[in-house]
Amino acid sequence: MVQENSRNRIYLSPPHMSGNEHKYINEAFETNWIAPLGPNIDAFENQLAEYAGVNGAVAVSSGTAAIHLALHLLEAGRGDRVFCSSLTFIASANPITYLGAEPVFIDSEPDTWNMSPRALENALSDAVKENWLPKAVIVVNLYGQSAKMDEILELCNRYDIPVVEDSAESLGSTYKGKQSGSFGKFGIYSFNGNKIITTSGGGMLVSNDTELLEKARFLATQARDAAQHYQHSQTGYNYRMSNLLAGVGRAQLEVLNDRVAARRNVFDKYVEAFACKPGIQFMPELGNSMSNRWLTAMTVDEQVSGVAIPTLLGALAGQNIESRHVWKPLHLQPLFAGVRFYAHTAEANVCEELFRTGICLPSGSSLSATDQARVIDCIIDVMNKYAGKHV
Ligand SMILES: *Cc1c(COP(=O)(O)O)cnc(C)c1O
Repeated sequence: MVQENSRNRIYLSPPHMSGNEHKYINEAFETNWIAPLGPNIDAFENQLAEYAGVNGAVAVSSGTAAIHLALHLLEAGRGDRVFCSSLTFIASANPITYLGAEPVFIDSEPDTWNMSPRALENALSDAVKENWLPKAVIVVNLYGQSAKMDEILELCNRYDIPVVEDSAESLGSTYKGKQSGSFGKFGIYSFNGNKIITTSGGGMLVSNDTELLEKARFLATQARDAAQHYQHSQTGYNYRMSNLLAGVGRAQLEVLNDRVAARRNVFDKYVEAFACKPGIQFMPELGNSMSNRWLTAMTVDEQVSGVAIPTLLGALAGQNIESRHVWKPLHLQPLFAGVRFYAHTAEANVCEELFRTGICLPSGSSLSATDQARVIDCIIDVMNKYAGKHV
């Protein structure tokens, strides 16, 4: 048994089904509502909008598709700029490029690891001087933690710039008592296989502007005009979610709050286990906010602990445990070489430091106590091995 446990692979964030998914999928089969859009889609959209506290939601094929639609509706195009958090997954920024617009990357700040209002203010003030304000600001809520939305919205409202909240990782989190993803002109969620709830692949675009959401539905179904024949006056996309997958989403949404509780519990156990280890700091949780702790992320100070992140990643991999670097900032990606970047302050480049010192640990809501203990033991072993050794 022990042998068995030391061999099974521990994943970073695997899918966790509730069991009720079959019920809604079977309903779709029994009514032959495999396609096109159908009752599961309507229910999933309505229930998610209600959960998020917004006026409406459009189910789409991915979180990336939702961002693409949002930017399209905000009329970002060739010659335009879009500001975006630098510390994030590439999917946050790819749609900027799809539309021929130019990204400008904004640093993180230490309290949330998310967009720095100071860096944003500097970027906006340059944009005003150059008379080239962005069409949108994409704010990412990393690993479940909401960005400082009050400060960011205040700045963006000053210049009348719409905010797209990339809440792919923060479904179920709150900021000042409201759901993460409900603050911007648009919010987006992802149901990719590794997210807190999944449809195997999918996404949602949410907003209080139901008129724009109607346009999103139109664009997501090949922009077909209201005519008897197939008529099109603009370029659309094939981006809707299937009615089968929406059935999975409905069942997953029913257990979302349990999933948040489970991931927060995983986080708490790591905190407890590493309390005595010098040099380890966990991703903070901003006062007045609640993170779903999608991934437990922490930094390791090499000077204090003697342990560098690659050492830790290697040791975990050796035990068949999946762990990851914190996202590599987008302004450091070869794809975006030469793109403008605004640091938090002249002295502090927060996201580069987080990339250098940060690690994400297995955080799935189905992670067993035994498996988490294996992760913890492996890390403690490494820390003990290097403790006191200077680098
Ligand atoms: C997962 C993710 C996305 C993209 O979602 P998909 O559904 O995989 O397209 C976008 N932004 C962030 C921050 C993500 O983590």
